[in-house]
Amino acid sequence: MSPATEKFPIMNPQTNTNSFFSEGHLLLRQKLQAFMKQEILPHVEDWEQQRRFPLRSILKKLGQQELLGLRYPSQYGGQNQDIFSHIVFAEELGRIPSAGISMAIIIHNDMVAPLVADYGTATQCEELLSPALRGDLVFGHAVSEASAGSDVAAIQATAVRESDYYVLNGVKNFVTNGLDADVYCVLAAMPDRNPLTGMVLLFVPRSLPGIEISEEIGMMGHRTANVASVSFQDVRVPASCRIGNEGGGFLAQLNQFAQEHIISSCRATAMADEVLRLTVQHCRSRVTFGEPLIKNQWIQFKIAELRTEIELSRQCNYVAASIWQEQGDISLLSAMAKLQSSRLVRKVADECLQLFGKDAYLDDHIIGRFYRDSRLFSISTGSDEMMLTKIAKISKIS
Ligand SMILES: Cc1cc2nc3c(=O)[nH]c(=O)nc-3n(C[C@H](O)[C@H](O)[C@H](O)COP(=O)(O)OP(=O)(O)OC[C@H]3O[C@@H](n4cnc5c(N)ncnc54)[C@H](O)[C@@H]3O)c2cc1C
Repeated sequence: MSPATEKFPIMNPQTNTNSFFSEGHLLLRQKLQAFMKQEILPHVEDWEQQRRFPLRSILKKLGQQELLGLRYPSQYGGQNQDIFSHIVFAEELGRIPSAGISMAIIIHNDMVAPLVADYGTATQCEELLSPALRGDLVFGHAVSEASAGSDVAAIQATAVRESDYYVLNGVKNFVTNGLDADVYCVLAAMPDRNPLTGMVLLFVPRSLPGIEISEEIGMMGHRTANVASVSFQDVRVPASCRIGNEGGGFLAQLNQFAQEHIISSCRATAMADEVLRLTVQHCRSRVTFGEPLIKNQWIQFKIAELRTEIELSRQCNYVAASIWQEQGDISLLSAMAKLQSSRLVRKVADECLQLFGKDAYLDDHIIGRFYRDSRLFSISTGSDEMMLTKIAKISKIS
């Protein structure tokens, strides 16, 4: 199939350089696509059936090909590249027809690793970031609890300082990579509990006594994300495992969330693009009433509409990434990007499922899976309502 029919040809960052993407980014994209083709795509169906994927070996292979932590310093195993290298990374992962895989890798590379890079000491970067970017150390991100999801400040997990240790107690649930992680990044409250002054981010080695892990079973989507509940009972965590200031964990986490919203938005937008690409292929080949579906003008308009919204979403992501690149304030645009892309990917998956008809209703159909997986974007790493709350607050709407 020629590139023109395989992909949408206009304004496509897959094939174009522009003010956002250089030749280097295109080469990176090609390298990532080759990696997906070789290491991931042939196995997706099996991994979905097994509801597991070999995160550790995939991270190791990504590390060997120098594809992890692209924007971090080379002294810690990064590639000294820019923010847009992570945008390319998130977009290429977003196309994988098993969002649990992309989320697991992104949590390691773009949620936890940045906390070490941005708030860790040189020693912590050597001990945590370097092995993580080689794929030798797997990160999990343990913030949510049964009674604290959107309201992060309501966490019940406690960290009580005793000389050179914190005694950690609490149960974190829905921890992506929870089954595989070597180190959990845990947000816990100190006795003062004030979110601005009384929370810590602890990088807790799984090998410490007092940790129990149990799989979250039966999720409707993101089935390959190796999600688990992790319980910490009187775990003695060395104070040297704290990242950032004592008491400053909540603010560090909120800052990181804003960056993650852009990454999440890129992943959602790329997923929408991939779903629409598959749908165009389907509508070209599916014949009803004597002609391919694509000949129906209503369907052409539907696809043109969705395509327009995807392109707007993509451009919004790139502007947000540019502001991030220039170290500007991303708080408003990142929330807007996350909100609209989360809604968009659900809408695209829903409307495309309609165009596929009954086959996509089957559990293991690729579009059915995208439909289930896309639902999480509006819930996790900042729900739609939390994005609206943030946008209203920053805009001083009330
Ligand atoms: C597959 C999967 C993987 C996950 N991975 C991780 C992970 O790796 N690490 C981690 O820490 N967490 C993880 N999570 C948890 C995720 O971050 C939470 O689901 C998310 O923070 C939302 O919290 P909640 O589900 O408890 O919803 P709640 O906080 O109970 O909210 C329920 C609904 O009410 C809305 N709402 C809440 N308060 C308000 C309000 N004041 N006004 C209006 N609307 C409101 C919310 O937006 C949401 O739609 C994961 C979840 C899933 C399903």
